[in-house]
Amino acid sequence: MALPTVIDLQIVTPDRLIVREQVDEVQLPGSEGYFGVLPGHTPLLASLAVGEMWYRKGPEKTFLSIAGGFAEVLPDRVTLLATLAERAEDIDAGRAESAKQRAEQRLAQPDGEIDYERARLALQKSIIRIQVSVRVTGTRVGELKRMRDARA
Ligand code: ATP
Repeated sequence: MALPTVIDLQIVTPDRLIVREQVDEVQLPGSEGYFGVLPGHTPLLASLAVGEMWYRKGPEKTFLSIAGGFAEVLPDRVTLLATLAERAEDIDAGRAESAKQRAEQRLAQPDGEIDYERARLALQKSIIRIQVSVRVTGTRVGELKRMRDARA
């Protein structure tokens, strides 16, 4: 049987379908660490951590923030049932910055006064959202540079 050459990627949250695309490569934030998937990958199920994911279609990478859920990897398909998933361009960086400051203030309080795990998770999510939101800028900078180079 011929090996698949592309991956049918689906990212679903409890609210909606976020992504349905044929892609060349995917990188996911597994709870045991980041891992990459190319067409023909061995089937596996993985739980997802709070982290950044990307998928690549030709030279273009698209970034999303992920917070929990599961991924099913098959040789020709990757399906994410994500608790939270946001495309870089949908992230409000200012909101994430405020959430980060709130979480840092909570974590700075003396022991026993806060839900430590909840504050730690809020901090992690805000850091990842800020990180992923900058990827949009990075992409735009890259686009502008390519346009400039094309004109030169
Ligand atoms: P906040 O403290 O700013 O409300 P939160 O971490 O409590 O953030 P979540 O419970 O993680 O928010 O998410 C609630 C909803 O808001 C989800 O649909 C999530 O995608 C969205 N969301 C949260 N923060 C952002 C952000 N910075 N930009 C865009 N959407 C966000």
